[in-house]
Amino acid sequence: MKPRLRFAPSPSGYLHIGGARTALFNWLWARNQGGLFVLRVEDTDQERSSLDSVKAILDAMRWLGIDWDEGPEVGGPEKYGSYFQSERKAVYREHTERLIGTGHAYRCYCTKEELDRAREELKARNPKAQFVYPGTCRYRKDQPDLPFVVRFKSPQEGSTDFVDKVFGPITTPNKAQQDFVLVRTDGYPLYNLAATIDDHLMDITLVVRGRDHIGNTPQQVLLYRAFGWEPPEFAHLPMMLSPKGEKLSKRHASVSVDEYRERGYPPAGVLNYIVRFGWSSGDQEIFSRDELVQKFGWDHVNKSDGKFDEKKFADVAFEHLKRPELTPLADYAKNVRPFLAERGLASPSDAELTAAIPGVRERARTYKDAASDLDFYFRDVPEVDPKAREKLLGPEAAARLVELSATLEGLEPWDAAALEAQARQWCEARGLAVKDVAQPARVALTGRSASPPLFEVMVVLGKARTLARLKRAPSLIPA
Ligand code: GLU
Repeated sequence: MKPRLRFAPSPSGYLHIGGARTALFNWLWARNQGGLFVLRVEDTDQERSSLDSVKAILDAMRWLGIDWDEGPEVGGPEKYGSYFQSERKAVYREHTERLIGTGHAYRCYCTKEELDRAREELKARNPKAQFVYPGTCRYRKDQPDLPFVVRFKSPQEGSTDFVDKVFGPITTPNKAQQDFVLVRTDGYPLYNLAATIDDHLMDITLVVRGRDHIGNTPQQVLLYRAFGWEPPEFAHLPMMLSPKGEKLSKRHASVSVDEYRERGYPPAGVLNYIVRFGWSSGDQEIFSRDELVQKFGWDHVNKSDGKFDEKKFADVAFEHLKRPELTPLADYAKNVRPFLAERGLASPSDAELTAAIPGVRERARTYKDAASDLDFYFRDVPEVDPKAREKLLGPEAAARLVELSATLEGLEPWDAAALEAQARQWCEARGLAVKDVAQPARVALTGRSASPPLFEVMVVLGKARTLARLKRAPSLIPA
């Protein structure tokens, strides 16, 4: 059977960068193996789940380019049913009955008050002891009118073993396992039960998730055994931590994938950075998306947690923006457009935009920066930085630009070499240094003291706009 992997987010907010890393590893392996990647929405916690959050997660995955073969919006074979756990309640109910019928689970009628009292009593006797459910209801007769939870009847002897693809063999004595709850009083299944049933029924062959779930796996293996099913393989991934080694939170970095999009980072750069949390390939730092798919494998997945380094992240992302083989011009243009729109700029033509991008991509660290660097091209009148104007564009220099514009009027062809030659000649004839004209011209054309190379700017602007902006130079000087 082809490998079937899954990402199973709980939709209680946005796609966390750590969740994106988990999705990525599943997706990479599915794509590397020609397998299938399933997206399952774990929304049994009705209070915390929302459809907005499902949408936000799907959008973020699409933006990253992590596509799914089965799941919301794309569906899947009929036999797998819904990919939303909230729509699979009948499946869980039926399986819970089965576990009760085979004596692997039982209804527990202990009330919260009773359990709290037992916990208090234990604490009074031994303040350090961990309360474990004592199995009171294991042998209790059914109480038809009382509310109940369903608990798993954990074996008291032996151990539960599995071999993790990353962490190796893991043995947990069954004694350590209390009779954990499978179904809440309101009938909703808890995570371990729902995930186990779904992973089995959806034919998942390898479960890949963060190592924060490794403690759940023995319970899930116990459930597989109780159902008489063969467990899938498991791979737990090291954590993405803060620079100080704490759980990564908003205080340390952007944790929502959306924020990376809003800040103008390229999606392939985000993937390239987060894949480092667990996987490496020699000393290579920069990978295209295709290269990740090709090279990914479990041999090089390691167990060490990693610390999020904002600067390193920004450097990796920048490499992606800089290199045309990683971000082709057409993609660059598509991705920078929303940021141009955000600045209130009318949408330029593809030709205009792709002509302008090469001049800024060496410098712009995000699409947002790029939009700011490109801004002057797409405004009728560029915004002028007052500091640049004061320093570089005096009345005399402005008057010279008007003269220069007259000289350039007849220039053919309008290319950088011809422009430079003409400007040089013109300066020499007047005993001027090129920079004495170039600097003011830059302010008149771009409104700034730094920009892409001047003659390239003139080419991208085209003759008409260049000449108009040079002629307008005196009007930029305040009266
Ligand atoms: N819904 C769980 C989570 O978001 C899934 C864990 C798993 O992959 O089994 O943490």
